[in-house]
Amino acid sequence: MPVAKGNGYGFGLDVLARQSGVLGLPVLAVGIAQEVAKVRAGGWAGGFSGDLVVLNPWRPFDDVATAQLADPHVIVTVSRAEDVTALAAAHPGTRVLLEIETSMHRHGLTPGDVDVAALDRLTFEGWTIHLPADGSLADAHRLAAGGLAVRTGPIWVSHLSVADYRALSARLDVPTHMRIGTRLWLGDREAYRTTATVLDVHRIAKGDRLGYHQATAPKDGHILIVSGGTAHGVAMAAPSRSGR
Ligand SMILES: *Cc1c(COP(=O)(O)O)cnc(C)c1O
Repeated sequence: MPVAKGNGYGFGLDVLARQSGVLGLPVLAVGIAQEVAKVRAGGWAGGFSGDLVVLNPWRPFDDVATAQLADPHVIVTVSRAEDVTALAAAHPGTRVLLEIETSMHRHGLTPGDVDVAALDRLTFEGWTIHLPADGSLADAHRLAAGGLAVRTGPIWVSHLSVADYRALSARLDVPTHMRIGTRLWLGDREAYRTTATVLDVHRIAKGDRLGYHQATAPKDGHILIVSGGTAHGVAMAAPSRSGR
């Protein structure tokens, strides 16, 4: 399942929404409820018309997310046992994914804490497992088994290698889905090209101060001001292990 969120991995949500449709995929994930309307609208070539998973877990204070509970094409992530109970009472029938707590200790619940009678009043779409970067097959399998012992349903995972995902899928007798963003949209550098337009040219002399941080020019020459920046995914870097 493709993921399109934030600045759309530098391409824009509208482009990724359109591309997910071109790929013929039935489900697309967005980060937050506020992105649902954006991927549906898409850009000039139209948006995504399939089902949408909202990855950020539902919270009662988010009015946009709450308004989407009745939307038949939105699948809501739920990460606290009390929210399962609350949604079953106030919004029965909502399509939900239940997120299991992983070693990241980000969002997630313990499957055994879920009120299964309440879950039966919702439309259960499966368990989700968001592993740390380079998540392990053993962790994924253990967590999936914990969920499946409470309620059977599809397993949705994030951040497993392709080989581990295949192994997990083969070991489980329920449907599985892997959510991918970076590897899908940015994995093959040959698949895209960056272009820019020169907007301004300035002559500068060695020793001149320049730029936001007023560095000194190492030699005489020209500065070219070109279009594009972080809003277009240029010059951005995700946090790396080295912490740089
Ligand atoms: C963003 C996100 C993904 C996609 O992550 P990538 O590292 O870009 O593939 C998958 N799952 C969840 C829950 C996410 O929030």
